[in-house]
Amino acid sequence: MDKASVYFATARSAKFAHSHSLLARLGRLLDQMNIGEIVQIDTPVPVKIHFGSRGAVHTVRPAYVGQVISALHNVPCQPFLTDSCRLRGLDYLGVARRNGYDWATIGAPVVLADGVYGNDSVVVTAGRLLEKAAIASAIHDAGSMVVISHFKGHSGAGIGGAVKNLAMGGVTGRPRCGSWQQGRGKAHFLLATAVEWTAERCSHCGTCIEICPVDAVSEVDGTITIDQGRCWRCGRCITTCPDHALTAPKDDSTFQEALAEQAAAVLSTFEPGRVLYLNFLLHMQPECDCVEIADVPVVQDLGVLASTDPVAVDIASLDMIAQQPPLPGSRAVQITIAPGQDVFSALHQKNSRGHALYLEKMGYGTSQYQLITVA
Ligand code: SF4
Ligand code: SF4
Repeated sequence: MDKASVYFATARSAKFAHSHSLLARLGRLLDQMNIGEIVQIDTPVPVKIHFGSRGAVHTVRPAYVGQVISALHNVPCQPFLTDSCRLRGLDYLGVARRNGYDWATIGAPVVLADGVYGNDSVVVTAGRLLEKAAIASAIHDAGSMVVISHFKGHSGAGIGGAVKNLAMGGVTGRPRCGSWQQGRGKAHFLLATAVEWTAERCSHCGTCIEICPVDAVSEVDGTITIDQGRCWRCGRCITTCPDHALTAPKDDSTFQEALAEQAAAVLSTFEPGRVLYLNFLLHMQPECDCVEIADVPVVQDLGVLASTDPVAVDIASLDMIAQQPPLPGSRAVQITIAPGQDVFSALHQKNSRGHALYLEKMGYGTSQYQLITVA
């Protein structure tokens, strides 16, 4: 396979002039990539992003999103900003607005890819682990797409970049036709069917009840109960339980492969070359934007990497990050980073490249790339 082209716009400004801003460089990057040849003209084009969470405010700034939207209007096409529900739909739209995403700020509508109830989806064939995946309708029905990713750490995958954004965000949490087995949570629960509670460990802090996006957790007479019919298998209660009283067995390698299968299932609904990926290597915090905090960054801002290849753009991002020292005062200074290792792999003790490399094996990209720096 030929090397993929990955475009890079640096965040470093050498002069006090707008033309040296990242915003201006992003505009030139989109011009240089000739995005009119990537997205379909005169059609709705989803611009897939993670809206963030309550307290997770270090998502991609609306000014950058607006720049992308402007370039898409010039194609011309009809962009709309979207994500599938991470919380109940209207609550998640509220998060989007609080994080600065609405029509007035970005110049396009903000809609839920899987509808207000988080169940609008179309089931497609997935890989050997997942078998089926329910793709959010507004993504499934599109002919082309732009994926904007805030590059950061992730406790399960090591990083959240383009491939993970495609995988977890392109698949709905609660399919209308089917069960959680076709939804996003299947990747979390390949080795289990339900969250398990260990009474002896539980301090009854109530975090799991508060954090559950679908009110599936309750406590009656000191017993934590999870409504298995409601549960999305999102894993938030497990991650946030301070006493490790909630568990579901998970194997890192299987999870990485399942993420790749979810990403491949989303991509199977597009013709090759019809998805543009923009990784924003800015304010790279240790945890995902699902977590309700905005921690200080662990590496310096680098800029924007872009490609039509999801594997290449994530591998190029990790290669660039691996050359950076950890930032003083951040979580990264408490850990040991091996020579050539990226900070996120060291922080989370995961192979951050794993899911991208599985996707490459499935034929949806290449880890070989050439870097093109935008002036
Ligand atoms: S978050 Fe953990 S410790 Fe707190 S109530 Fe739930 S199970 Fe118990
Ligand atoms: S995994 Fe936990 S937080 Fe997620 S839906 Fe199920 S009970 Fe709620």
